[in-house]
Amino acid sequence: MQTTIGTAISFDGPGLHSGAPARLTIRPAGADHGIWFKRCDVELGDAMIPARWDMVRTSPLCTEIVNAAGVAVSTVEHVMAALAGCGVHNALVEIDGPEAPILDGSSVPFVRGILKAGLRPQGVPVRAIEILEAVEVETPSGWARLSPAKPGTGLEMSFHIDFTDAAIGRQEKRLNLANGTFVRELCDSRTFCRAADVEAMHAVGKALGGTLENAVVVDGDKVLSPGGFRREDEAVRHKMLDALGDLALAGAPILGLYEGHKAGHALTNALLRALFARPTAWRMVSCDAEMAESLPGSGVERDEIPAVA
Ligand SMILES: [Zn+2]
Repeated sequence: MQTTIGTAISFDGPGLHSGAPARLTIRPAGADHGIWFKRCDVELGDAMIPARWDMVRTSPLCTEIVNAAGVAVSTVEHVMAALAGCGVHNALVEIDGPEAPILDGSSVPFVRGILKAGLRPQGVPVRAIEILEAVEVETPSGWARLSPAKPGTGLEMSFHIDFTDAAIGRQEKRLNLANGTFVRELCDSRTFCRAADVEAMHAVGKALGGTLENAVVVDGDKVLSPGGFRREDEAVRHKMLDALGDLALAGAPILGLYEGHKAGHALTNALLRALFARPTAWRMVSCDAEMAESLPGSGVERDEIPAVA
């Protein structure tokens, strides 16, 4: 069944790139509403932005959605991942600034809040996007692909990264996102960057809200953030978290295999555009009870949230 959040819940803090403080509030919404953002600080014109792939303004560093009036919200991927990973299909996300709070750099604060607020089933079957044909996009540096799922499987994800910094290096991970996997395995993984890139980002007005606490900063074989990585392969796990958040902009859960090879926000969005440009590659299906059990939010338990600082 479709699910919304039991009660409204708020999160406060600066955005990673703008450094601008904002309050983000997730509110319950009716069945078939989907996920929408609302810029509640915008008084004139259209403040509503659907969380959808065709509203994305491409950026290599984060995912920004913008409506026809030019009203935008950036860095939506971590809250989108939390909603998808907890199986929240309908919600209104109000925000009083241009960028979602980065919090600890992962999705765990959002997941904690959502599961504390509770999930409310809405008595209407979930509609999902079943992948029928493989679709792939590539750039000189990486590729991303969606292909049909194995029978009985919902969303499976495989990701590969390769960094020259030895602190990250080459990492590979494959996960079936059913049964609360996102909450157990991915939601606490933080964003990361290379120390060498921080200055370049600052020069173009990005990463202004970044700290050694809300992003894991690496320099060669050293991790500059106190305490180091939360898990040995936290970096590839965070890329999978980002991919789930970006795929959630499809507007419905995806039944298929997502593979990312050095992929990022722009490539995953290009993949969704390629998918929806090819009508034979997908179809909408109404999930029966068995299919619903394979969706990312099915079986999520509050006591499975990783204990992190
Ligand atoms: Zn991220």
